[in-house]
Amino acid sequence: MNAQKQNKLSRRDFLKKAGAGAAAIAAAQMFVASPASAGKAPLEDAWGMMIDLTKCTGCNSCALACKEINNLPRTDIVPHKLDSNAYTFVEECETCEVTGEDGLPQQYYVKHQCMHCVHPACVSACTVGALRKTPEGPVVYDADKCIACRYCQYACPFGVPTFDWRSLLGLIGKCDLCAERLKEGQKPACVEACPTGALRFGKRKELLAQARAQIDFNPERYYDHIYGEHEVGGTSVLYLSAVPFTEIGFPEYGPEPIPRYAETVMTATPFTALTVAALATGAHFAFKGRQQPQLAIESDEIGAEESDDQ
Ligand code: SF4
Ligand code: SF4
Ligand code: SF4
Repeated sequence: MNAQKQNKLSRRDFLKKAGAGAAAIAAAQMFVASPASAGKAPLEDAWGMMIDLTKCTGCNSCALACKEINNLPRTDIVPHKLDSNAYTFVEECETCEVTGEDGLPQQYYVKHQCMHCVHPACVSACTVGALRKTPEGPVVYDADKCIACRYCQYACPFGVPTFDWRSLLGLIGKCDLCAERLKEGQKPACVEACPTGALRFGKRKELLAQARAQIDFNPERYYDHIYGEHEVGGTSVLYLSAVPFTEIGFPEYGPEPIPRYAETVMTATPFTALTVAALATGAHFAFKGRQQPQLAIESDEIGAEESDDQ
C-alpha cells in the first residue's frame, strides 16, 4: 500500500472521526480557558543548561550525541536548522566579529535547541496537553496525545517545534532536555559530550549565579547579558555570549511570558481554534485508526483494492 493510498479518507470516515475529536476538544476548551499547566514549575529549583558561546568550537559533538540518544538518523550533512531529525544544531555566526585571547579573529558558533521556557507558549497553545512543563524544568512532548494541530509551532517565540511531514501521524519533534536521563541522575547527552565546557548543566538558580560571576570577573570576555534570565518570563536554557545577542540573531523579548498572548489569541478565536483542533483530531485518529491491529487484518483487502486501482 502506498502512502497516498493510506492517507485517503472517505468523507464519512473523516466526519465520524472528527466527531470523536470534538469530545476531546470540549475538554480542550476547558484547557484554553484555564491553561494552568503552563508556568507552574518552581523556577528556583528547576534544572537548566548554560550555553557559553565563548567556549564553543563548533565541533558538533553535542549535535551528534543528541541524534544518538534520540535515535535520529545520522546524515553526512551537518544540520543547519531544527527539524524532526535534528533537535539541536550548531551554526557559525559569519557576521560576528570576535577576537580570541591571542588577539586574532575567532570563529564564533551558536548552538540552538528548545529553550525550555519557564512559561512555555507551546504548552499554553496545545489544546490536548501533549506538551507539558515538568516541575524539574524540561518541557516534554507526548506523541500519544498529539493531534498534530501544530498550534505549538505557531505559538513558540523561538521557532522550535518542528513537524515531521514524513510521518502519517504528524509528530512534533523537539529537544526534551533529556528528561529521561535527568530522572536517572544523568546529565543531558549534549552536555556530557561537549569537550570544551561550553555546555553546563545544573540548577537554573545556580547557573545564573555562576554566569553573573563570570561576567563580573571577566567583562572583556562576556557581553553583559544572560539571555534567558528574563526573556519571555525566563527560560531553563541560558546563554552567555561575547557579542550582543541581537548580533547572533536572537529575538529581543521583554520579561512578559508569551503564553499570555497565545491564550489571548486562542480565547479570542475559540471557534477557529476548536474547529481546526477538532478536524485535526479527527484526521489524526483516523490515520491512527488505519494502523490499528484489526485494520491490519484487512491489509490483504487493501492490497487487493490497490492492485485493482493500478
Ligand atoms: S522554546 Fe518554544 S518549544 Fe521550547 S519550551 Fe519555549 S515555547 Fe515551548
Ligand atoms: S538536552 Fe538532550 S534532547 Fe536536548 S539538545 Fe541536548 S541531547 Fe538533545
Ligand atoms: S560540543 Fe560543545 S564545543 Fe562542540 S559544538 Fe557543541 S557546544 Fe560547541
